[in-house]
Amino acid sequence: MRSTDVVIIGAGAAGLMCAFSAAARGRRVLLIDHANKAGKKILMSGGGRCNFTNMYTEPANFLSQNPHFCKSALARYTQWDFIAMVARHGVPYHEKKLGQLFCDNKSSDILEMLISECEGVKVDLRLDTSVQSIEKTEAGYLLDTSLGQVTCQSLVVATGGLSIPTLGATGFGYQIARQFGHNVLATRAGLVPFTITDQLKALCTELSGTSVDCLVSCNDQSFRENILFTHRGLSGPAILQISSFWNPGDTVEINLLPDHDALAWLQQQQAERPNSELKTLLGELFTKKMANLLAEQWFTSRPMKQYTPAELRDVADKLGAWQLVPAGTEGYRTAEVTLGGVDTREVSSKTLESLKSPGLYFVGEVLDVSGHLGGFNFQWAWASGYAAAQFV
Ligand SMILES: Cc1cc2nc3c(=O)[nH]c(=O)nc-3n(C[C@H](O)[C@H](O)[C@H](O)COP(=O)(O)OP(=O)(O)OC[C@H]3O[C@@H](n4cnc5c(N)ncnc54)[C@H](O)[C@@H]3O)c2cc1C
Repeated sequence: MRSTDVVIIGAGAAGLMCAFSAAARGRRVLLIDHANKAGKKILMSGGGRCNFTNMYTEPANFLSQNPHFCKSALARYTQWDFIAMVARHGVPYHEKKLGQLFCDNKSSDILEMLISECEGVKVDLRLDTSVQSIEKTEAGYLLDTSLGQVTCQSLVVATGGLSIPTLGATGFGYQIARQFGHNVLATRAGLVPFTITDQLKALCTELSGTSVDCLVSCNDQSFRENILFTHRGLSGPAILQISSFWNPGDTVEINLLPDHDALAWLQQQQAERPNSELKTLLGELFTKKMANLLAEQWFTSRPMKQYTPAELRDVADKLGAWQLVPAGTEGYRTAEVTLGGVDTREVSSKTLESLKSPGLYFVGEVLDVSGHLGGFNFQWAWASGYAAAQFV
């Protein structure tokens, strides 16, 4: 039987952060993961360059049924704290856009930094290790693991969400939460591409690979970023962002002319260039292929002077407020996050400790806290992992 101060289940972003921060306080930490490698999502993240934080992180960048919950941890370990660690390790990085910080080289720079922090304070990291059962004891917790029985004072659940099962994601954290009396809010895929199956599918397929700057809105939320047409439907940053606010059956509105008042622009073109065809004008805003396809499939392209005011309004509505109902999303297979999870109303926002079972902690994505796209999800993992580490 092994005995230690802290067991952390899940050696991803939040678990690694929590492990070395607790060990730096002198706690003996056993960090276990069933995968054969720690931090697989870190390696995959940001297209291989890990968007490790966002300079403009604030609580408004997070979705949760309890929106105030994330404030305390985010305030106690900020993006600047993480950036300082990155700088201390000499990891080169840059701002891509909108405060999003990426590695200049590879995501593995961030993972190696976290592992070296763990090694520096002697975190006992065990991979390929599974947990069969957990019991509450008087002094803490007793775990049956593939290493044998382990007892600890504090148990940290850092098992993440359900997205990308091939990277080690499981619902084990939710199972532990339920075992100790916690409510788990319904989960669904977030930051995920839309699938389209109706008559728009042909347009998406034909334009596959085309990216357009748009304003995308749904349920009172809007994001101005690129959308990307794919063989399955729509992706790109603006679509991923809005997907977190979308429920099946909801209409998504896409403004393809975010810098113009569509009707005023069309009226101006009609007045100034009456003999120009609509598709020629659209070709000045979109790729030629997209302009031709829109002109063929959505409107009958004619010289501008031939459009009646009502027809012009119709074109403006299509370009400025294209309404579509996605068939669904690509689901956990490609989602960057899991929305929902352990209900934060039963967890202390200061310590991340369970209000139901003393000595049990939840950090990272397993909780009902999900960030927007842009480095916010990692910042939540770092901040919540660090916050819990001060108390475990
Ligand atoms: C493709 C992709 C790209 C992303 N890019 C970014 C990005 O650039 N920026 C950003 O901010 N966010 C990004 N994210 C989101 C970010 O990766 C997650 O929000 C973050 O990793 C969550 O950290 P976590 O520690 O809570 O969970 P995870 O990092 O998922 O770690 C959970 C760990 O628990 C382990 N585990 C699970 N079940 C068990 C079990 N039963 N027993 C033992 N161990 C278990 C897993 O193997 C894993 O190592 C991306 C996500 C994906 C999928």
